[in-house]
Amino acid sequence: MKRKLSFFLIVFFIFSNINSQTNQFLGINTIVIDPGHGGKDPGTLGTGRYSLTEKDIALDISLKLGSYINKDYPNINVIYTRDDDSFVKLSKRAEIANTYQADLFISIHCDAFTSESVYGTTTYVMGAHKTKSNLEVAMRENSSILLEDNFDIEYSGFDPNKPESYIALTLYQSENINYGLNFASKVQKEFKQAKRKDRGIKQAGFLVLSRATMPSVLIETGFLTNKEEEDYLNTENGRIEIASGIFKAVKMYKNELEAVVEQRMDELIKIDKNNNVNVFFSVQFFSSEKEVDFKNKKLDNSLVLHFLENNVHKYCYGKAKSYNSAKNYQNKLKEIGFSDSFIVAFVNGNKTEVKKAIEMIKKD
Ligand SMILES: [Zn+2]
Repeated sequence: MKRKLSFFLIVFFIFSNINSQTNQFLGINTIVIDPGHGGKDPGTLGTGRYSLTEKDIALDISLKLGSYINKDYPNINVIYTRDDDSFVKLSKRAEIANTYQADLFISIHCDAFTSESVYGTTTYVMGAHKTKSNLEVAMRENSSILLEDNFDIEYSGFDPNKPESYIALTLYQSENINYGLNFASKVQKEFKQAKRKDRGIKQAGFLVLSRATMPSVLIETGFLTNKEEEDYLNTENGRIEIASGIFKAVKMYKNELEAVVEQRMDELIKIDKNNNVNVFFSVQFFSSEKEVDFKNKKLDNSLVLHFLENNVHKYCYGKAKSYNSAKNYQNKLKEIGFSDSFIVAFVNGNKTEVKKAIEMIKKD
């Protein structure tokens, strides 16, 4: 099964339970919140006028954000990569998100710059940096690994201070980036509404994002090297405002994904109004005791169906009007390595014996 799972390295898609009457949405179940730095790594120190450093502010905003999510969405599983002042390796942070199969990864930080006049909020998504200053932010955030034991082995010789290290890292491409950009735009929109300066959505090679296999963002909530912004982030109200802004973005992102899924499922399982019975054939290609969210580049992911049968999660591909045309989907699956798939049938959204389904079509 491990081998099969490797097909889904680029992981993210939304499934809904095709048999379920409630059409339960499975898109945003788990959110991992990652307060930057911690323990021996204080992060940005700011102007030195306050005792709180980046690690403390990031932790407080993270805990606030998590509590807002828990309050409005008790069913969402909120996981923190740290919920106290401890040092957590960057690789471990992404590993936590991957282990919990998070649907969204939010890393929270504070910015710094050599010039004290620079201020504002930025949300970063993994990608190639377009400017030197974006690269510099990634370099600063990635340099946490220098405090880790065996970082050279863990990150295969990646040197956070060398621009050339970033070339391979930013070649990384994933569908998740688009989802990340979507969420990032919502975060920045909320910050703007809260009258924070919007420095935009940017891309750069962040190690912590590069290893996470779901839509991920790194939020720079303001510059601690700017006095006004440092004052703001050192107030309870400032941190509440920032956490609320991120929370509103989560809410909008979740609603948007849900709407898309519902529409898609409606199309897939709707009963044809002219025809009382809706019969279609699909190809079952994968089953697992644990639910797996995945997206495969070589498949039309809007045609991947998920349903639960005897407590086993089953995945089908395609929606064909006849048994014979379902074979085309089966061939496609074979091409990409699913050699033992088989055709199944659905009648009005319920899995039915293939023979019966074929007979029903004949009667029509
Ligand atoms: Zn940071």
